[in-house]
Amino acid sequence: MSVASNRVIVIGGGIAGLVAAIELERRGRPVLLLEQHEELGGRVRSRRVDGFRIDRGFQVLFTAYPVLTRYLDLTALDLHAFQPAARIASPTGTSVLGDALRDPSVLAETVLSSHVRVSDVWRLLRLRRLATHLDPEACFAPEFANMSTREFLEARGFGDATIDRFFAPFYGGILLDRSLESSAAVLLFTFRMLALGETALPARGMGAIALQLRERLRLAEVRTGVRVTALRAERGRTTGVEAADGTVHEASDVVLATEAPVARTLAATAGVTLEALPTRALGCATVYLASETPVLPGRALTLNAADHAVISHAVTVSDVAPSYAPPGQHLVAMTAVGEAALIGDSALERAAISELAMMRRSGVPGGVRLVAIERVPYSQFAHPPGYASRRPIASTPLRGLWLGGEALHSSSLDGAARSGVAVADAITGAEVPVSTAP
Ligand SMILES: Cc1cc2nc3c(=O)[nH]c(=O)nc-3n(C[C@H](O)[C@H](O)[C@H](O)COP(=O)(O)OP(=O)(O)OC[C@H]3O[C@@H](n4cnc5c(N)ncnc54)[C@H](O)[C@@H]3O)c2cc1C
Repeated sequence: MSVASNRVIVIGGGIAGLVAAIELERRGRPVLLLEQHEELGGRVRSRRVDGFRIDRGFQVLFTAYPVLTRYLDLTALDLHAFQPAARIASPTGTSVLGDALRDPSVLAETVLSSHVRVSDVWRLLRLRRLATHLDPEACFAPEFANMSTREFLEARGFGDATIDRFFAPFYGGILLDRSLESSAAVLLFTFRMLALGETALPARGMGAIALQLRERLRLAEVRTGVRVTALRAERGRTTGVEAADGTVHEASDVVLATEAPVARTLAATAGVTLEALPTRALGCATVYLASETPVLPGRALTLNAADHAVISHAVTVSDVAPSYAPPGQHLVAMTAVGEAALIGDSALERAAISELAMMRRSGVPGGVRLVAIERVPYSQFAHPPGYASRRPIASTPLRGLWLGGEALHSSSLDGAARSGVAVADAITGAEVPVSTAP
């Protein structure tokens, strides 16, 4: 039997592809992982610019993620936690809203918040209780998944001010959609993650997560800098893939662990239409600013509650994880989502500095400078109400062709890890619904 006769090719070295490769290798299958970039990690990569650590857009790790964390050594990641609180900033003032059950020091400020009614603080506690008592998969049940986040919050009695000044920038930041039209399932799931564990950054940047997954692969062959351009099939089954340099790689099974639009295009080269893949992309742009004096001190996220805000949320990442900046320097990450993320670099930099002044309420001192702008047009896929019941499954109409990217579950690090497990289960015969994947 040739190697290719039971080899699995995984296209894409993001979290989903890496977890799929780990699981397939663990079950005895020869694996060839092909990644188009020189570095692994996909949307979870970090680079150094002038001594600063720049993630591929501001993002965070929830230590309560039930599936991804099974593949990680959290201690070795040297995690640094955010304060479990958010600072809400608007032209009329700032206030703090925090999880007093995790950090009692925020209790007084939370109750006195000028942006959120006391009755809504009580509702937040009830929402926290609901999220923490649900089984993680129950968050995706139709009763929640078929409602938009806004409808769900209104049904629970939250006032417009709390929805617009807290939930819109906060969940707008997590789901990259300030309209709150995303499925309430994702709100509940992330609320659960926030309540049950830390929100953290690895000392060596978010890219360290992907690098740690890579280290778990012992036998799999990993090739970077290889862009797959077409799938190969004969007599109704997959036989391999073709790379941009014309090389053909043979395999009995091929996993599409790329972003959804690429998976759709590659499948089409073998005559396969993947209808259930998500279609709408949500993008964002993160402006990284450096300064020698602390301009937005603290480990809490600052939410921009101003009308027509360009920046949705900001935080001094080097206050959370000091290794993000060289000694004596500070690094602020300011993220714009949706349409606001599409404005040009200089306008975005100007907006970031002017909105930083509003968040500080005291102007921005000289010496604040731009380090980098990270734009990720396909940051997440949209999760409209009802999306959970329309999720694709790992198998496709072509024998030996499998779907393995985040689209099988949800657009998050944990959703990507679950998808990797689910596709390995499907290939090796333990076909289980992704919702119950280990
Ligand atoms: C700015 C930003 C903020 C985010 N915030 C969070 C957050 O706070 N928490 C959270 O949980 N999630 C967050 N996410 C989402 C999370 O990063 C993704 O859901 C997850 O990384 C997706 O993993 P994946 O493996 O499915 O896809 P990807 O990471 O996109 O991996 C796909 C891989 O396929 C490769 N590829 C594509 N085409 C080809 C080809 N033709 N040949 C070879 N290789 C190919 C790509 O280069 C890529 O490496 C955020 C994402 C971004 C960008």
